[in-house]
Amino acid sequence: MFLNQDLHVHTNLSLCAKSDATVDAYLALCKDEGITTIGFSDHFWDPNVPGASDWYAKQDFTHINVLRTRIPKDTHGVQVRFGCETEYCGHGKLGISRETARLLDFVLVPTSHTHMKGFTVPFDLHTPEQYRRIMLDRTYEVVHMGIATGIAHPFVPLGCTCIEETLHGITDSDYRKVCEAAAKNGVAMEINPDIFNHKCADDADGQPGEYRRFFTIARECGCKFFAGCDAHTPKSFLCHDRIREFARICGITEDNIFILA
Ligand SMILES: [Zn+2]
Ligand SMILES: [Zn+2]
Repeated sequence: MFLNQDLHVHTNLSLCAKSDATVDAYLALCKDEGITTIGFSDHFWDPNVPGASDWYAKQDFTHINVLRTRIPKDTHGVQVRFGCETEYCGHGKLGISRETARLLDFVLVPTSHTHMKGFTVPFDLHTPEQYRRIMLDRTYEVVHMGIATGIAHPFVPLGCTCIEETLHGITDSDYRKVCEAAAKNGVAMEINPDIFNHKCADDADGQPGEYRRFFTIARECGCKFFAGCDAHTPKSFLCHDRIREFARICGITEDNIFILA
């Protein structure tokens, strides 16, 4: 099956997730969703890196590592992987050290958590030009750091009310520069269902046009892709057929899929 690993799933260890976001609840859904490997990626900031926000300070390694005690003996044949979703604050400040990253199966880094003003991004982030510059620069920086496995929800700026305009102003060659660097450095791109929820115009095939452009370019540049539902509650896990349909429309095939060992 195509895109049968989901590497972006939050359990209720993430402070913003719902209480019903349990390992068992997700495992029960995997078969119907065609998912054979589930990668849990709770929000995480490494205590070895100074500068956690108050919210992140509580989500340290001891906290997320509790997950290992919550995996049932019988996982219904589903492979389980332990990862995290950390942060990148620019200027080389990544929320996980190289040493800690080795303790995890994978590391997701978002470069579009533009809602955390004063922490991940400056307070004065407002214009489409600012949003596009920060996402492009940070994605380019992160793919060169040698720690990220994948970019979480690429180019889905959280808290941004001008997404269509922001993305429309990114040129194909802007995307190419970032995607060629990601491909060269082996950093995969997540296909995240948020692309269907944002206020982006659909194209004639009913797909979000700006994201179709980005993912098609990323595929042409040699990027690899994985599914990331970013569920914070089990019902949000039910999205994989839609992700697969979108991927096919972008020309993504088995050959373009990132596989986590
Ligand atoms: Zn995220
Ligand atoms: Zn997430």
